Formats: sequence, structure tokens, C-alpha cells
Amino acid sequence: MKSYISSRVEQLKPSGIRRFFDLAGSMEGVITLGVGEPDFTTPWSICHAAIQSMERGYTTYTEMEGLLELRREISLYMDRRFHLSYSPDKEILITVGGSQALDITLRAILNPDDEVLIIEPSYVAYEALVSLAGGKPIPIRTSIDKEFKPQPQQIREAISPRTKAIILCFPNNPTGSLLDRNELKALADIIIEHDLFVLSDEIYAELTYEEGAFSSIASIKGMRERTIVVSGFSKGFAMTGWRLGYLCAPESIREEILKVCQYTTISVPSMTQYGAIEALKDGDKYAMEMRNSYRTRRDFIVRHLEEAGLKCHLPAGAFYVFPSIKETGLTSEEFAEKLLTQHKVAVVPGNAFGDSGEGHVRCSYATSMDKIKEAMKRIKQFVDHLNKD
Ligand code: PLP
Repeated sequence: MKSYISSRVEQLKPSGIRRFFDLAGSMEGVITLGVGEPDFTTPWSICHAAIQSMERGYTTYTEMEGLLELRREISLYMDRRFHLSYSPDKEILITVGGSQALDITLRAILNPDDEVLIIEPSYVAYEALVSLAGGKPIPIRTSIDKEFKPQPQQIREAISPRTKAIILCFPNNPTGSLLDRNELKALADIIIEHDLFVLSDEIYAELTYEEGAFSSIASIKGMRERTIVVSGFSKGFAMTGWRLGYLCAPESIREEILKVCQYTTISVPSMTQYGAIEALKDGDKYAMEMRNSYRTRRDFIVRHLEEAGLKCHLPAGAFYVFPSIKETGLTSEEFAEKLLTQHKVAVVPGNAFGDSGEGHVRCSYATSMDKIKEAMKRIKQFVDHLNKD
């Protein structure tokens, strides 16, 4: 039977995150710092707008690119928040989460064996999506000593005649690292020199803790025409279950990506698009409240992990911290497994995000402060205990 399965699919490794979720789900009293999704429910006005759209009978397919009204709101939002200008008619495409935006973009731009540079540790889907699209993922390894930032020299060394694109994700999952404008400019010089595409996953841009710290690489001179910005509503607006994302790209690129989209999804569910219009019209205040709450939790969790003896890089965005557990002498998997089975706290082993994540674990602080406090107590007990052994 196995030989009937595509070898590309057969070769994919199951996500290292899932194994821990399955184990944690089968145990009582576990506090999970494993989940990469907001603990807030979607603000009610957004839910109400979706319900109203159904009451009004707006239940058909929408335009393949997504509702024009939503694309207009996204265009205004990108300009207001990130100083990026995209035409609602020609340069924006609504997708099923940022996930679909990543998938269809890679399928649209890659030829067999094209290489794609991925900054590691990285979001688990990139490597798999590049492989599924027939490309070859090339990891660029970063470390806590360099604040998980890729160094220009590393990028230069990784580029080959087959390199087609680079995927950037800042603020980063799993490290929370962010590149400032000068660092982006240094990367942009290399990207332009080698004529590469950039897939800029900006899904955590709304969750950047210092006002004005986030810059999109698309806003750097010479980059807009070669950048596909991917984003969505899951993280910043607490809308993971709505499965709504989008991409912004120059017309000629968006047209090609749209072809892949039209044959796979036709259009995104209509009701979620109506909800998203409301999110962009009225959601800035909710996004800000959630961001402030995450920042308080970030400060708390980083302080307590450091006090427990686990070295951290202060995350500039997203809702993850990626402490080093090297001092404990355990591997990431051993640490996560013992912490879960002995102290009932679920974290994700860093090697789930690529080899350079080894020696770290990912803790999500998108959970209540009470749970974070209890988890920190348990982690301290665990590390103290290991030190005594
Ligand atoms: N990109 C990154 C970096 C993520 O962490 C995630 C989800 O965890 C996604 C994209 C996909 O998000 P969604 O498909 O919910 O928009």
C-alpha cells in the first residue's frame, strides 16, 4: 500500500509538536505552554458581524481573491500599521489562514529542486511546504548568542545558483526574535544582488512589543517587487479557528498565485471574511489590549525562567520564549518529556523547529497568568531537582 503514497509526502516527518500535544492530552492536570494560539476568544463584535452576514443570507462563494471590501480594509490596515501600500484590486489575496498563503505562494514560485533558505529555528511548516512544492529547504542556523538573528555572511554562503527564495519570519516563531530596519536592509542588499524572492511571514507583526520596532522588508527600497507578505488574523486578533489569512504581492506575482488558489479553494468561507472586515474596522483596540497583556506575561515568564537558571533571549514579539536548557545536560526532548511526566508542564522541544533548536524548549505565554505562575513554580522545582542530582 505504501508505494501508492507520494514519496514527497512519505518523506515528511510528523510535526514534533503534535507528539507532545498527544501525550499532554492524555494526562490530567497538565499546564500547557505548548500551544501557539491566543487564550483570548475572538472579540464579540467580530463574531457578531459574521453571524449577521449569515442572517442576511450572505452565504455564497465570494470573489476568488476574497471580498473586495475586506481587501480594501486590509489595504488600509497595511498602510496605517506598517506603511505599506497595496492595491485592493490587484495586489491582495485572501487565503485560508496564513498557512494557505505560504503553501500556494511556494507552489506558484518553485520549480523542482529550487532552493529556499529558511532561518532556523523556524516555524514547523516551512520545511514541509517547500518540500511539498518540490523545492529544497536550506537551513540557515541561528543561535541565542546572536539573538537568533541570521548574519549576512551566513546568507551569502548559503546562496547557490539554485537559490530561488528566502523565508523570513520576524517576529519569529519560536524565538520571538525581531530584525530591525538596518538588519533588514543588510539582508535586502544580498537578496537584491542575487535576485531572490522573499516570503515574509508577518503573522506576528501585530504582536510586536515596542511601538514602531517592526518594519516589513517589503518597505525597503527595491524589495516590494520581490516580496510576498503573508499575514492573517489568527494571532493578532485571536481568530485561529476562523482560518483567515492573506497575502500582499505585486500584481504579476499575485496573478500567478491566484491560479493555484482558484483550483484548490475557489474562495475562503464568506462568514469569516465578514468577521474580518469588522476586525479591521474596529479591532485595533482589542489587538492593543491583547498585546499589552502578552507583554506583561512575557516580562513575568522571562524573569522567572532566568531565575530558574534557564538563559533567555528577551522576545521582541510573538508570544513565545525559547530558553536554553543546555545547562541541565538534558536534550530538548528529554527535558520536555521529564517536565511533562514528572511536573505536568507541557513545552515543545526546540529540535521540533530544526536542528539549531536543540538545547532549547519553546514556551508559549499565550495562557493565563495564573497558569503561567504555577508553571514557573513547577519548572523551578524541576530544574532545582536536576541540579541536585
Ligand atoms: N506562520 C507562523 C510563523 C505561525 O506560527 C503560524 C501558526 O502558528 C502560521 C504561519 C499559520 O497561521 P494561520 O494559518 O492560523 O494563519
